[in-house]
Amino acid sequence: MEVYDLLVKGAILGETGRKTDIAIKDGKIVKLEPDIKAQAKELIPAEGRIAFPSFANMHTHVPMSLFRGIGADLPLMDWLQKVIWPLEGEFVSPEFVKAGTRLGVLEMIRSGTTLFMDMYFFEEAVGEVAEEAGIRAGLGFGILDFPTKVARTPEEYIKRARAFAEGLKGHDLVFPVICPHAPYTCSPKTLMMAREVAEEFGLYLHIHVAETRSEVDRIKEEYGKTPVRHLEDTGFLSDRVLCAHMVWVDGEEMEIVKERGAKVAHCPESNLKLGSGIAPLPDYLRKGIHICLGTDGSASNDNLDMLEEMSTMAKVHKGNSQNSKAIDARTALKIATENGFSAVGIKAGRIEEGYEADLILVNPDRPHLQPLHDLVAQVVYSAKSSDIETVICRGKVLMYKGEVKTLDEEKILAEAKVWGERIRTFLGRTRP
Ligand SMILES: [Zn+2]
Repeated sequence: MEVYDLLVKGAILGETGRKTDIAIKDGKIVKLEPDIKAQAKELIPAEGRIAFPSFANMHTHVPMSLFRGIGADLPLMDWLQKVIWPLEGEFVSPEFVKAGTRLGVLEMIRSGTTLFMDMYFFEEAVGEVAEEAGIRAGLGFGILDFPTKVARTPEEYIKRARAFAEGLKGHDLVFPVICPHAPYTCSPKTLMMAREVAEEFGLYLHIHVAETRSEVDRIKEEYGKTPVRHLEDTGFLSDRVLCAHMVWVDGEEMEIVKERGAKVAHCPESNLKLGSGIAPLPDYLRKGIHICLGTDGSASNDNLDMLEEMSTMAKVHKGNSQNSKAIDARTALKIATENGFSAVGIKAGRIEEGYEADLILVNPDRPHLQPLHDLVAQVVYSAKSSDIETVICRGKVLMYKGEVKTLDEEKILAEAKVWGERIRTFLGRTRP
């Protein structure tokens, strides 16, 4: 008789309402049937719990969790130049990155995310934490034209990115990504060096594009064209490029994105909070552009909660287009789950046989979730991340009944408070 690694008993499938057992072996969903009579190394009783695919957070800077709440209410460029960059100059180190990542990964597991795409400094430290925690992560060093603590020249950043990619060979939960920061912080030469390394190692590229109107003006002034057109003419775009934000993009640029097969990581809450604008999501969807969802860093969101991000996404575009059908609940769920995983070639984001076992169990016995009429609509519009009780990533249980199994929650929160005090001292503040 077959022995499964994990057997989830009696869950309700969110997408169909059907009650089923979910048998998992070697990290994959191998059987979906009611009442599976087989042995398993681990059993999860899931009576009355609703199973959904877990989330893929496709654009973030997880270590920035320690900068949460600082520089609220500023526009992007002021926020970056007056607040974030000086703080990073003072604090960013492997220890800081580790502490920030632990805090961020803890928050992500608690809110049902099992893949995140990160761009920051000292990504080796991010990778170590991700592996400890058992979460998938696509990680890359931010590549810039100006000097920071990690490198002085674009060539040095590229060297660092290359060494990082070499170092992650053979790891599979955590994979390297090449991250030129943005068209306004990377010259065409830097962009193409980044693309060459990505090609050499067969990696994805992750970049910020067209986040604000002022970025568009800046690129136009410097290169005489809009950011996406500029990336296209530079030769940077391909189906292995993940473009974060893409708020200010015209019809011609959308055609380019569609033709190249580049993916868009939509970050509605960060764009709203920094006053950057609202990306033309309904147009992207109409054109069949591959859209996934990200929270951006906690210093601009101010959390890493994909459930909330998904809900905001659905609502903001309905309101903005005065069309309640602009994005429906099923589309929102797909964007937040399957579209993220598939953007980087991972077969997850659906609870089906043959898919990776990345899923969450939601407890619907909450006042804001009863009565249940439409499971998908209710998870998108009324669930809270605290309703997520169990999180499974590639067949491994990361959280069970609200308890994170792979991280020491108490220690992480204590450590975050210590960093918070150091940051406040630097800012000359005596209390929050
Ligand atoms: Zn970002």
